[in-house]
Amino acid sequence: MSEIIRLDNVGKHYDDFQVLQGINLSVRQGEKIVICGPSGSGKSTLIRCINRLNPHDSGTITVENQDVATKSGGDHVRREVGMVFQNFNLFPHLTVLENCTLAPMKVRGLSRKAAEELALRYLNRVHIGSQAHKKPGQLSGGQQQRVAIARALCMSPKVMLFDEPTSALDPEMVGEVLEVMTELAQDGMTMLCVTHEMGFARKVADRVVFMDAGQIVETASPAEFFDNPQHPRTRAFLSQIR
Ligand code: ADP
Ligand code: MG
Repeated sequence: MSEIIRLDNVGKHYDDFQVLQGINLSVRQGEKIVICGPSGSGKSTLIRCINRLNPHDSGTITVENQDVATKSGGDHVRREVGMVFQNFNLFPHLTVLENCTLAPMKVRGLSRKAAEELALRYLNRVHIGSQAHKKPGQLSGGQQQRVAIARALCMSPKVMLFDEPTSALDPEMVGEVLEVMTELAQDGMTMLCVTHEMGFARKVADRVVFMDAGQIVETASPAEFFDNPQHPRTRAFLSQIR
């Protein structure tokens, strides 16, 4: 399978604090990778470096062989990579439908009619088409996060990045979001997902990546990762979260 994302020896620092160090990672088309690790280990920074929300400062990140640090590579990553945040990041003053049609109209040049058809198709796919004319504030957290997923899908992304998409949700809403993510995985989407939802990782991930102190400490299949973790820091982490 072809490689979609590649990180070679990626590093980043904030002043004298090294937040990422020597990160190597390759993501092939259709792969689902779960990233986990303690708070502050650099997971969000890593995800945000990939889609250029935060620039890295050493090493190379490519998306479909284009260096994200170049102007054209940066434009490419913004067009082709979808992102879902912990706090949804929907536009509060726009309806659900308008949240989903904005980028396809602006960036892809779709007509309003075509963008609305597309948006309704994805809103229905995340089981929320009936809420299209509401504002985000009228929806539950789980519903808002499903809208955020639909909004990203409307750009037909090659890859979806998720940064703790269920951590801000009330417990009873976690399941509906994980279900939509699982469906997306089953449809073949390439996914890079920061999450501590270990049931999801076991079921969906091809590989689990464990980060600590800005480095990738261990990468393994979910079965190996959970049942036979190799690194002491991985074992310590797993014993804390379960
Ligand atoms: P995680 O997502 O694993 O919790 P983050 O990538 O958010 O970790 O953060 C990693 C470390 O970088 C943390 O110690 C955090 O305080 C620090 N950090 C994140 N953003 C900034 C910033 N803009 N300036 C300075 N330090 C930051
Ligand atoms: Mg984070």
